[in-house]
Amino acid sequence: MKAKVNGRLEGRTAIVTGSTYGIGEAIAKVLAAEGAISIITGRTEDEGERVASEIRSAGGAAEYHHLDVTDEEEVAKVAKAVYQRYGKIDILVNNAGISGPSKPTHEYTREEWEKVFDVNVTGAFLCSKNVIPYMKEGGGGNIVYISSIYGIVGSQDNPAYHATKAANRIMAKTGALIYAKENIRVNSVHPGFIWTPMVEDFLKAQSRELGVALEDLKGELDAKHPIGHIGEPDDIAYGVLYLVSDEAKFVTGSELIIDGGYTSR
Ligand code: NAP
Repeated sequence: MKAKVNGRLEGRTAIVTGSTYGIGEAIAKVLAAEGAISIITGRTEDEGERVASEIRSAGGAAEYHHLDVTDEEEVAKVAKAVYQRYGKIDILVNNAGISGPSKPTHEYTREEWEKVFDVNVTGAFLCSKNVIPYMKEGGGGNIVYISSIYGIVGSQDNPAYHATKAANRIMAKTGALIYAKENIRVNSVHPGFIWTPMVEDFLKAQSRELGVALEDLKGELDAKHPIGHIGEPDDIAYGVLYLVSDEAKFVTGSELIIDGGYTSR
């Protein structure tokens, strides 16, 4: 984890959902490196404690809370605990997400469809709903929804996932309009392919299904990005840092695409 940088977020409290690994871990670390108190959340306790302890070892502030975003009681409990301990919640990053099955729409069961919506849409809703009252009390805040390029353009593989990511995009814009007067900015970030367990698992499944080597599939994916390769979690984390920092004070309802040029074609 990076050593402390400029203190752009000194003393601010940041809840990052799904920060036990992947993109969320990188976001929590980058925000902490700028002085934020990072609240690491997710269901995998040992990973959450690992991320929090790595941040603390580097001189930052962090603590882990078990949180399943689909469990409203737990969401309310974590938000309250953070507010009671720090007296404010400045930042919420709705990052927790699952990809769901990769298959055509007509092969989806209702259960499979709803599971993806439950985490990616309802989970983000529950976190915003339970954190916004504290932000209002504190005089403002920042919310970022981690959507995807597939909240903007289509693709033939994961219909439920893409629908949820489009929902995240509009949840951000609606929130931006509702809460602008309360000094709460709401934006969305749209990553292209980023090397995390989510993408690795996706490629491994494809590799088994198609009988193509994992490295070859990764090479094909790299080539789809005009910049020549897929991204790293930090590429997304620095975009989030910008949006929640004071440098972005005029930015709300915006969609920040970070995709190595993928959607520019
Ligand atoms: P990942 O490696 O699979 O990590 C997902 C994170 O979400 C983990 O920390 C996981 O923690 C957490 N999570 C999953 N279900 C949860 C639940 N019910 N409650 C709370 N936390 C939960 O995924 P990632 O690639 O880092 O993706 C992070 C976000 O970026 C997602 O919203 C994804 O849609 C978006 N995104 C990713 C890419 C990409 O290429 N990687 C591209 C575009 C958008 P636990 O298992 O510990 O709960």
